[in-house]
Amino acid sequence: MAFSTPAQNPRGEASSTRSTATDPGYRPGPEPIPTATSLSCMSAPRVVSVAPASPAQRAGLQVGDELLSVDGRVPRDVIEYRLLVDDADPELEVRRGHEDLTVLLAKEAGELAGIEVSSALFDRVRTCDNHCEFCFIYQLPKGMRRSLYVKDDDYRLSFLYGNFTTLTRFTELDLERVLAERLSPLFVSIHSTDPVLRARMLRNPRGATSLRWLRALLDGGIEVHGQIVVCPQVNDGPALETTLAGIVDEYPELATAACVPLGVSAHTTEPAMRPHTAAEAAAVIDTVEEWQSICLEALGRRLVYAADEYYLLAERPFPAAEAYDGFPQHENGIGMARAFEAAFGGDRSSAYGVRPGFFAAVDGAPAGGYRAPRTTASSAGEAAPAPRAPVVVITGEYGAAVLGPLLGWSDARLLPVRNDFFGGNIAVTGLLTGTDVARALATEPPGARYLLPDVCLSEGRFLDGVVVDDLPRPVEVIPTDGHSLRLALRGSCR
Ligand code: SF4
Repeated sequence: MAFSTPAQNPRGEASSTRSTATDPGYRPGPEPIPTATSLSCMSAPRVVSVAPASPAQRAGLQVGDELLSVDGRVPRDVIEYRLLVDDADPELEVRRGHEDLTVLLAKEAGELAGIEVSSALFDRVRTCDNHCEFCFIYQLPKGMRRSLYVKDDDYRLSFLYGNFTTLTRFTELDLERVLAERLSPLFVSIHSTDPVLRARMLRNPRGATSLRWLRALLDGGIEVHGQIVVCPQVNDGPALETTLAGIVDEYPELATAACVPLGVSAHTTEPAMRPHTAAEAAAVIDTVEEWQSICLEALGRRLVYAADEYYLLAERPFPAAEAYDGFPQHENGIGMARAFEAAFGGDRSSAYGVRPGFFAAVDGAPAGGYRAPRTTASSAGEAAPAPRAPVVVITGEYGAAVLGPLLGWSDARLLPVRNDFFGGNIAVTGLLTGTDVARALATEPPGARYLLPDVCLSEGRFLDGVVVDDLPRPVEVIPTDGHSLRLALRGSCR
C-alpha cells in the first residue's frame, strides 16, 4: 500500500517506524539469491552518494555507478544488498558508463560500506490485487505524481517503511525469507477476521484466506502490528466486535491493532463509502475501550487502540498518554495528540514527529522514496520576518483542534487550512496541499512568522508538487512534534 505517512494518511495505506537496523537476528537467509544472469526484470541500483573516508570512497566508487552484483549475487532490494555488503571485503561488479568494473571494498564485517543507492527495490514493487471500496488511491484527483497512484502490497515495503500489507500476494517463499532474515516488525491490514467480510472488503477472494500468513508470521516470532480500517455499516458495530474477538482468539500474539477511520475524499466513486457520524465514532471508541479491558485481563496488555480522529469526531477527551503504551502506532494516528502534548510540555521522549524509519539507519538506503527526508528550508519571495514577529501556526482542521488548547499561553495564532484539494472528510495536516496552504496564506498579512509542520512535505514538496518557495509568504518549516513547536514559538530551533 503506497503513500506517505499514515497519521496524515487516508486509511488503507500507512507507515510506521522501526529500528531494526541493528537487530541481532537480522542475518542473510538460506534462500538462494539470484545470479547476475537469472533476473531480467531487475533494475540495477545507482550510487547516489559515497560517504567521505568510507570503504566505498577508498575503493574509488563514484556517484552514478550502477551496482550489478555483490560477490556474484544480484540483490533484489536494499535489504538483500545490505546483507551482502555487510560481509568483510565484498567484491562489487559495477557498471560505469559502458565499462564494467570489479571493485573490492576493503572493510571489516559489519562495517558500513558508505554507499547510498537510488532505490529500495531493485526488482519490481509488488502491487496490490485488491480493489477496496475505501482505498484512498482510487479517490485521488487526476494529475498528481504518478508514484502516488501506485498500489503497493509488498512485505518489503512493510518492513522498510511500515506500509500495511494485506498479505493477499504473500507466498511461501516470502515467508521463508521473512523468517530467515527476521524482517520484523511487519504491518498487516486485517480489516475483518470474518473471511467472507474480509474478501468482500478487499474485493478479492484471496482476502478470505490470506490471514493464514499472519498466523504463520506470528508462529515464526515476527512482530506484527495490525490495522482495521473501519467503514460505517460495513465492518463496524457487531462486525468490529467479531473482528476484535477473532484477533484475541486467533492472533493473540499480535503486537497492536489500530482501529482507524476510512478517509473519504470528494473524488470517491463509491456510493457506500461515507465518513463516520459522531455517534458512530463514539461507538467505535466504546468498543475499543471495552476490548482494551478484556485484553488487559486476558493478555496483560491493551492490544487494540482507536485513532485520534475518533476522539475528535466524537468530541471526547483523548485517553491519557499512558494508555497508549509507548505509542507503538503513533504514525498511524494512534495517540499522536497526546504524544504531541507531552512533547510540547517538555517530555522530549514523546517528540516523535515524522520519523524517517528504518532507512535512516541503513547503509545503502536511498535518501528518497516513500519516507523521504523532509525539508528544513524556508521559502523565499520576501524578506524573512523579524524573530519577534507575530507567530502563525499553519495546520489542518484536526491539528487546530489539538493545538488550540496548547497555545493558550502564547501569542501564537493558528491558521487552520481547509483541505479543498481532497475535500470530503480529509482534515489531517499531513494531507494539506500547497494549493490550499497558498490560498490560506494569500489573505494573511506580511511580516509574521508562518510555521509549517514538515509532515506536509516530502523532499520539500507538497502532495500536489508545490514547493514552499511557491507560497505567497515565507514559511519556516519545523519538525512535526510538540518539542519543536515549542522551540519555534520561542524563536529557537534547537
Ligand atoms: S486496494 Fe486496498 S489493499 Fe490495495 S492499496 Fe488500496 S486500500 Fe490498500
